[in-house]
Amino acid sequence: NDDKMYSEMAPMLDRIESQRQALKQQMRVLADNDRMRREFTANITHELKTPLTTISGYAELIAGGMVADEADLRDFGHRIHREAGRLTALVNDILTLSNLDEAERSDSETSAAVLGTTEPIDIPRMLESIRQRLEQLAERNEVSFIMDTKPAMVMGVARLLDELAYNLASNAIRYNLPGGTVTLGCGMDEAGRPYIQVIDTGIGIAPEEQQKVFERFYRVDKSRSKARGGTGLGLAIVKHAAVFHGASIDLASELGMGTCITVTFPVQQFPAM
Ligand code: ADP
Repeated sequence: NDDKMYSEMAPMLDRIESQRQALKQQMRVLADNDRMRREFTANITHELKTPLTTISGYAELIAGGMVADEADLRDFGHRIHREAGRLTALVNDILTLSNLDEAERSDSETSAAVLGTTEPIDIPRMLESIRQRLEQLAERNEVSFIMDTKPAMVMGVARLLDELAYNLASNAIRYNLPGGTVTLGCGMDEAGRPYIQVIDTGIGIAPEEQQKVFERFYRVDKSRSKARGGTGLGLAIVKHAAVFHGASIDLASELGMGTCITVTFPVQQFPAM
């Protein structure tokens, strides 16, 4: 009878229903990915167009003989140069992100081909080189460095780890306050995991923004980011470079007090020499 038939069919119906739910969930994920991809493309287009508009505007004035004054001419030249620099930074960051995207979806051989080979990296030495490259930016912002580096080695892609730490350090300078400090730290935690830590005494990030800042092109304050030479992709690169190295990111921040970002790597195994 009906009751018997139903009780026999019930487990099958349950299975079908749970498969249907799983499929719906997969479709939601795919739709989300698709939406993010379209948003990213729209953002890129916008971000590229803005400097291009400025560049062609000034170039047109100069080419049209509209700029008679020598000082104006030089000023316009500087502006064109600055916008071209912004474009270069943007294109480089977009390229790095797309390489990281590709590497995440492929095997280790392919990812080595797009990103570079994995080798033992001396983290204190890398942080020292970053400090040197950022010395001028720090001086311009009236910010000083504190080095707090203890021995730490990570198996990683040199260029990516450098970019990860460089982006964190340059943010720590750009979102700091005059007289502030940036601490570049590294070492091994109590579980034997290497970490990189960047601490600043800057403007801080509100709790509701702390997840969003890792999204592509997300900026808390758009004008401040641009005025300070940001592409809006720095922390997205940090996040993906961390994922690529199996590292986790911890962000602690308080508005008006400063920010501390710690990237912790898994326990390392080095190939025998
Ligand atoms: P940007 O190029 O705009 O600096 P990022 O991806 O590096 O892009 O950072 C995203 C946003 O997160 C920045 O625009 C800024 O608002 C905020 N942010 C990043 N680092 C810090 C920091 N150390 N202190 C305060 N705000 C920060």
